Amino acid sequence: MKYVYCFGDGKAEGSAEMKNTLGGKGANLAEMNHLNIPVPPGFTITTEVCSHYYDNNQRLPETLDGDVKTAIEKTEEIMGLKFGDVENPLLLSIRSGARQSMPGMMETVLNVGLTSKTIPGLIKKTDNPRFVYDAYRRLIMMYADVVMEKASGIEVAGDGIRHKLESLIENHKKTNQYANDTDLSGEDWKHLSERFLEIIEKDLGASFPDDPMEQLWGAIKAVFQSWNGDRAINYRQIENIPHEWGTAVNIQTMVFGNMGENSATGVAFTRNPATGENQFFGEWLINAQGEDVVAGLRTPNPLNEGTKTEGTKNLPSLESTMPKTYSELNEIRNILEKHYNDMQDIEFTIQEGKLWMLQTRVGKRNGSAAIKMAVDMANEGMIEKNTALLRVRPNQIDELLHPMLDPDLEQKSTVIGEGLPAGPGGATGRIVFTADDAETWNKNGEKVILVRDETSPEDVHGMHASQAILTSKGGMTSHAALVARGWGKCCIVGCSDLQIDTEKKELIIDEKILPEGSWITMNGTTGKIYLDQLELIDADPTSHKEYKVLMNWADEVRKLKIRTNADSPDDAKQAIEFGAEGIGLCRTEHMFFDDSRILAIRKMIFADNESDRRNAVMELLPYQKEDFKGILTAMEGLPVTIRLLDPPLHEFMTLSEDQELDLANGLGVGIETVKNRITALHELNPMLGHRGCRLGIAYPEITEMQATAILEAAAELTKDGLTVLPEIMIPLVGTVSEYVDQERIVKTVSKRINKKHDVELKFMVGTMIELPRACLTADEIAEKAEFFSFGTNDLTQTTFGFSRDDIGSFLPDYLERNILPGDPFQSIDVNGVGKLLSMAVELGRNSNKNIKIGICGEHGGDPASINFCRENGLDYVSCSPFRVPIARLAAAQAEL
Ligand code: PEP
Ligand code: MG
Repeated sequence: MKYVYCFGDGKAEGSAEMKNTLGGKGANLAEMNHLNIPVPPGFTITTEVCSHYYDNNQRLPETLDGDVKTAIEKTEEIMGLKFGDVENPLLLSIRSGARQSMPGMMETVLNVGLTSKTIPGLIKKTDNPRFVYDAYRRLIMMYADVVMEKASGIEVAGDGIRHKLESLIENHKKTNQYANDTDLSGEDWKHLSERFLEIIEKDLGASFPDDPMEQLWGAIKAVFQSWNGDRAINYRQIENIPHEWGTAVNIQTMVFGNMGENSATGVAFTRNPATGENQFFGEWLINAQGEDVVAGLRTPNPLNEGTKTEGTKNLPSLESTMPKTYSELNEIRNILEKHYNDMQDIEFTIQEGKLWMLQTRVGKRNGSAAIKMAVDMANEGMIEKNTALLRVRPNQIDELLHPMLDPDLEQKSTVIGEGLPAGPGGATGRIVFTADDAETWNKNGEKVILVRDETSPEDVHGMHASQAILTSKGGMTSHAALVARGWGKCCIVGCSDLQIDTEKKELIIDEKILPEGSWITMNGTTGKIYLDQLELIDADPTSHKEYKVLMNWADEVRKLKIRTNADSPDDAKQAIEFGAEGIGLCRTEHMFFDDSRILAIRKMIFADNESDRRNAVMELLPYQKEDFKGILTAMEGLPVTIRLLDPPLHEFMTLSEDQELDLANGLGVGIETVKNRITALHELNPMLGHRGCRLGIAYPEITEMQATAILEAAAELTKDGLTVLPEIMIPLVGTVSEYVDQERIVKTVSKRINKKHDVELKFMVGTMIELPRACLTADEIAEKAEFFSFGTNDLTQTTFGFSRDDIGSFLPDYLERNILPGDPFQSIDVNGVGKLLSMAVELGRNSNKNIKIGICGEHGGDPASINFCRENGLDYVSCSPFRVPIARLAAAQAEL
């Protein structure tokens, strides 16, 4: 088996197609060679070696040793250097690289090959002892942290060995009154390196390896080991990356951005990842190593003049500082984008004027940018329309629908700090200072904002749990910015006005002390921070030009209709703006809670004979008629599925002592009567109790009243010249006889109303399919019903036997232990609930080929479930108004 793939000097054994074997980074390094882009030569150890390592008790394949030696020789030949050579030493970087990028989650070791023997040669060659000892101390720090401390099982007191070595540097700076790292001389770094070696020996009980090969293998193993580190596992769980994949290891010639004033390093995106604009966008630092940009210790400079902001307008751009190299980089940007037909995220280093590309990969972007880029690229002819549709994840549309700060309110509020706008949208929450606290508070139902000097991959769980992330350091490509953007989270970085005291758990900003738990509000689009909890307003995706275009393209492609679940005219209007083509579920129960109506329904509940009950129910008729007129008018010309009353009656009877007394007075009965009735309504399993069509069967007056209200509304509107298309839906049917019983009432009402108004109303009667028995006997039901709408909330509940309201007590365990792949109330359980759905569609269509079939459970807004619905030939999906755009795109993608 081939374990090692070499690349360099415009040749490579691998290619971009080999991501599974070489990881994303390795495959693209190979590809860049094929494109004649300058890449430091080296080689990639495959992901198979990682699997072998874990399958064989953490042992590497025997032949690997020889393969690596040969690969090093090839690299040496290209570079004219030798690994471990005393005069011309080759130094190597060792980096991870999985199939899918896992930014910062695994280990990196740089400057491997620096030893007591190679240092003097390199000093002689570079004539730069400062550079050499700076590189050496970086190697020691990384190696001690990544390889030695982890292998030793010892945890150095304080915050680990790295922290201890860092504080040594800080002390040295203080003693010598140095402000910056750049003030330290070669002698300083030499002295510190020696101290580092002593401390490592003492604290970790082993000496730092002075042999290049030993360093190399230590680093390679550390990368494999880091695949199963906590933070990598954590990240894979969040991002759904399979644990079996493993990581590759990329070993490359070191190039240095810290060799003086004509050296530099940077990160860039071929288009702006926050806005999607077609502008080369990035950050760089002169005389620095890559980690300096990403770690956010120095605020990086803007890449070019065109992307300068208020905050960066006085900083030097690469374009103006090194114009020749910048134009070379810009050329590479164009080559890469054309080649990959997508926005690339690149890393580069300039070593003494020579440009080297260290990485290219498809860049992460937020939802708004994803939409803009996809549409722009299709318009530029770079990609097909269909590809553009597939480029945007349906959930990214969600980001456009994210709340924003009310501009008026914002204007009246005082800004307490400002940073770089790394993740757009508004957010408000209570501040916490550690990732663990963020997670705990969030679990307790609090909205939190995680505030840090800078974030590291160790913080991802807390970042995930936060509404927003705020850091005092770092730039637009810092860890916090990248991770937040990937998730579409509000994020502000590099806010130097912040002073964070993690010990005291407080934040000083604008001369105010904010203890943990204080509310702040952030505008991630402008970078401004406000005190207190400011109200957020819903986003308006319709103002995004490319969004509209993309949605139109989606509509051209999709065959599934998209309806909405809405029970008020306002919601219905909102849904139409989002592109809904009808109402798939209008729940009527909310209409009864109004003060003026609740007494009538309670009277109905208390009635002990049919005539009293009828009188009470009919009091509701005028109200209901107005409700339905409102909704049918809002949805003029579009189908509106109205569901008859569904919930168990006790839901109308949750009363305090005072309310019980009021009710007794209102009804003219004794308090005991009220209490007794409430007790009588008590059910052990109300979800399986007296609800759905069982209500209408026991109290036919309810069905009669609701059918009358719907059809009267329809008749009056029709007479007014409106086209209305009501669909009356009978809930929770399990047997065809239940359906027939209720349908008969509706039909009788319709005859009466047709006659009264002298019209021939067009409407449909159908049923929800939300019980397994309904699925199993769908053929019988379809002989009578004109439409089916899958109520997958109840169908999931009754298929699993999971209470939809109590699943929270055990679902987390199920997910953690992989007993279920996901929450079946969120995304359809294809093998179980899905099988029932497929069966019901087939049975239903066999006995009634014209039957209209849709879904109105929560799954109707879930992209994976939408795909499943399309595969099963449903006519429409119905979801909440804010998920309509997501559903439109998901339905198009299902078609593609
Ligand atoms: C369902 O059960 O899927 C449904 C839409 O009805 P409800 O959620 O109101 O029970
Ligand atoms: Mg239901």
